[in-house]
Amino acid sequence: MTDTSSSTASPTGRHSKLGLPHGAELLHDPLLNKGTAFTQEERWALGLAGLLPPHVHSMDEQVARVMDNYHAKTTDLERYIHLVSLQDRNETLFYRVVMDHLEEMMPIIYTPTVGQACQNWGHLFRRPRGLYISIKDRGHIAEILHNWPHKGVGVIVVTDGERILGLGDQGAGGMGIPVGKLSLYTACAGIDPALSLPVMLDVGTENEQYLRDPLYMGLRQSRVRGKDYDDFVGEFIAAVEATWPGTLIQFEDFGNLNAFRLLEEYRNKVCTFNDDIQGTAAVVLSGLFSAQRLTGTAFADQRILFLGAGEAGIGIGDLIVSALVSEGLGVAEARKRCCFVDSKGLVVKGRTDLAVHKLSYAHDLAACPDFISAVRELKPTAIIGVSTMPKAFTREVVEAMASYNARPIVFALSNPTSKAECTAEEAYTWSRGRAIYASGSPFPPCLYEGKTYVPGQGNNSYIFPGVGLGVVACRARHVTDRMFSEAAKTLASMVLPGDLEVGRVYPSLTRIKEVSAAIAVAVAEVAFKDGLAGIERPSDLAALVKSAMWEPRYTEYLE
Ligand code: NAD
Repeated sequence: MTDTSSSTASPTGRHSKLGLPHGAELLHDPLLNKGTAFTQEERWALGLAGLLPPHVHSMDEQVARVMDNYHAKTTDLERYIHLVSLQDRNETLFYRVVMDHLEEMMPIIYTPTVGQACQNWGHLFRRPRGLYISIKDRGHIAEILHNWPHKGVGVIVVTDGERILGLGDQGAGGMGIPVGKLSLYTACAGIDPALSLPVMLDVGTENEQYLRDPLYMGLRQSRVRGKDYDDFVGEFIAAVEATWPGTLIQFEDFGNLNAFRLLEEYRNKVCTFNDDIQGTAAVVLSGLFSAQRLTGTAFADQRILFLGAGEAGIGIGDLIVSALVSEGLGVAEARKRCCFVDSKGLVVKGRTDLAVHKLSYAHDLAACPDFISAVRELKPTAIIGVSTMPKAFTREVVEAMASYNARPIVFALSNPTSKAECTAEEAYTWSRGRAIYASGSPFPPCLYEGKTYVPGQGNNSYIFPGVGLGVVACRARHVTDRMFSEAAKTLASMVLPGDLEVGRVYPSLTRIKEVSAAIAVAVAEVAFKDGLAGIERPSDLAALVKSAMWEPRYTEYLE
């Protein structure tokens, strides 16, 4: 006999699963809600009768309705609002829609549109998502974590909003980034959305515009720095460890001095990484590995000149160095392959104004005041733009690169699109179709002298979701550089000859789940080999990873 004390009979006598919320509460739980797809039996059993219009729709019909509305919107920001509102009502349907239209929607739920959302956060705000923890909450962070309604948390993405994309300090509006990144974890790698937690650590903002804006949502004060800041972050990390031990904590869009320090402080203590530093590095390294198949030159012969020596630039440099060292070069020799230009010119030994993270790349070279003079002096094989300086790769720069290299590598990675160092069209036109181009935000295909070029997007989403999935699947204790190098190799190995033929150094985004699963297997392999996994090694790693991947399918609520 069925126990009906905690389940409800429908007119057909079937019972709802135990512990499910009822009625309007169920409709308002985005992880459980199915909207008009609740069957008639479920509606009677779950207290929903009359709360929904009579016709039961299939998920495909619901997707069609969402897409009709999506296409009726006239701006990307409206499309973003439409999608995030859907996410707030029905996460399963949101992910079905996003996963079925990933290439179209990634630029909406992430860069570049998410940047506009962050800039307008207080004006667009409809419903909170994630946890906002302010420095005024010090001493109570564990209590705040207990307010989170879901028991298990597997992945946290946390920001303090100081350096959002290339847009600078967005204060509390930076929350758009953890929300967006976690959506990508699910859309690209099938991380269960119930395991995701976006966090905004609010320590104030230096953005005068927001401090004056009555609708701004964060603390109205200058950023707290120094020991108070460190203690606040320290309390947060300790509270996460105490509440959900072993949870993956991804640091995102912190200002670069804090980002490097915090990574060093916590990387060997908890399960953490910084996507701006390590995730970017892996995706760019992978792009360079693929570019090598087009240039025909050995990876060890690359000479790379960066514009920008911040988190992305130094992170990429460090991972390139470790890849070169594993090819047999000494560390000092490997570092010489990477040179940096920052806002004061070429990073060289003689400079006295260098931040500590740039020192390993301060080579014994003559000073160059600007990027073009450094290009002429060093004649690099690749230039990588991570400077947030739009149009810094001028015609002169690209033409100079094309005069030294049959296939110059030009990666203009600054985000959002408005910050790109050059557009795809500029790179192809100025190099007469010879540039191997990749960007941070997407650019459409370009036609140049009768040939169509498809620019690759050096999108971190190729890497971090797969790394996160691997870490979660084997409960890795730490996230290591070796995991990122293996992720880069795996990604490069998935680029097909057809991708390279059109100039694309990354696989099509339509293959992202397959890519993420392969990266997750490679990452788990490293974790098991290096003794970092929290479970026994199963015989079939691919099956382990697959079993950790959530699918956007509705649950049958009656048994
Ligand atoms: P950051 O603030 O840590 O570093 C920016 C660097 O650019 C600093 O070293 C700064 O000194 C330098 N810079 C500023 N003005 C300059 C100028 N006029 N000339 C030369 N250098 C200048 O930021 P970050 O995290 O390194 O990110 C930089 C950019 O790269 C951002 O736009 C970000 O969105 C983008 N990015 C792209 C990807 C990707 O495509 N996968 C990943 C990460 C970051």
